[in-house]
Amino acid sequence: MQYQNIKKIDPQIYKIIKAEEKRQKEGLELIPSENYTSLAVLETMGSILTNKYSEGYPRKRYYGGQENIDDMEELAQKRALDLFVPKRSQKNWYVNIQPYSGSPANIAVLFGLLKFGDRVMGMKLDQGGHLTHGHPVNFSGRAYKFFQYGVRKDNQTVDYDAIEAIAKKVKPKLIISGATAYPRIIDFKKFQAIAKKVGAIHLADISHIAGLVAGDVHPSPFPFTDVVTTTTHKTLRGPRGAIIMCQKKYASQIDKAVFPGLQGGPHDHINAAKAVCFSEAQKANFAKYAAQIVKNSRAFARELTKLGFDLVSGGSDNHLILIDLTNSGIPGKEAQQILDDVGMTLNKNTVPFDKRSPFDPSGIRLGTPALTTRGMKEKEFVLIAQLMKRALKGRNDQNELKKVTRLVKNLAVKFPVPGIK
Ligand SMILES: *Cc1c(COP(=O)(O)O)cnc(C)c1O
Repeated sequence: MQYQNIKKIDPQIYKIIKAEEKRQKEGLELIPSENYTSLAVLETMGSILTNKYSEGYPRKRYYGGQENIDDMEELAQKRALDLFVPKRSQKNWYVNIQPYSGSPANIAVLFGLLKFGDRVMGMKLDQGGHLTHGHPVNFSGRAYKFFQYGVRKDNQTVDYDAIEAIAKKVKPKLIISGATAYPRIIDFKKFQAIAKKVGAIHLADISHIAGLVAGDVHPSPFPFTDVVTTTTHKTLRGPRGAIIMCQKKYASQIDKAVFPGLQGGPHDHINAAKAVCFSEAQKANFAKYAAQIVKNSRAFARELTKLGFDLVSGGSDNHLILIDLTNSGIPGKEAQQILDDVGMTLNKNTVPFDKRSPFDPSGIRLGTPALTTRGMKEKEFVLIAQLMKRALKGRNDQNELKKVTRLVKNLAVKFPVPGIK
């Protein structure tokens, strides 16, 4: 990308962008929710579509001058359906592409389909769920009565029996499936069966795995789920934003909740970039990318295990790995800092049944999507696992850390980031 005007008009922000370019180019990005968008997505986000106000929905707007925006939004809706919903079921599905991000999308679903105080089920944050799945500090946990579920103690996978037992007891109006720090396949069919048994609406939040679902390497919640939310910027590799897909009978409640219930004017430049991303995700090389994410995770998990790391649930089926560092003597926060210092970016994370606090938890969370986008394969992830081990082991040896820093940079710069020279 060229930033000639920013350079002239605002040298301070220009300097920050250039410094961030350098960080992104020279570092190994292992945060599983991050990715690199294509140049086409970047261009669309930077387009003049940002100049328009278009409160409302296609052909039903409050202001004039909407002929192009209406075309764009309808195209984005159609492409989202084509990407996710099997052809024969599309007539039953509706898409709202306006949510500003994943959190407002989830809140809009709760707001649109429930009354304040209604009973809801979602996954606990410290066992892999998202804040908007009922955490007490979040709007979701404050406005609704949440009953949270988690994973089994023995194998750290989703405890479907316990979920069914809770559901039968509390009779929730809505059950949220999906997670933000869970390394295994999620069985949406099981969630749907449980929801059906107790007469609850099933919301599948596929924010993390949308790219894997689109690329057909994770079971899809379509077409049987009631509502599906997803961010568009994680494995799906689009602009920062989200969409809500739902059975048609919920369409007007969802639309009203997003606007005028929760949001104002849609971000047309971002929504157009979502359309670009949906089109990119239907190309053959996207399915290859999705398959490679999973292959890379498996190779990464295998090597980490070989090196003595303790993986939550013993491995990974998707794009994400959780390491329990309890037995290594290095807590998550310290590990994050050591690895950050040598150029490997990841995040500290709680592990199931963590005895430490979320500010200094026992684990770290890492993932393969961003570096897969840069073209890295199994071989590189084996090397990254070894570099991680060296950095953590040599944390008190400045010479060793310098060596690892150099090796990290040498590896990273061989794989270009779209938009960075
Ligand atoms: C990331 C995420 C969200 C929230 O998305 P934001 O865009 O950060 O608001 C919601 N649900 C899940 C499962 C997520 O992983």
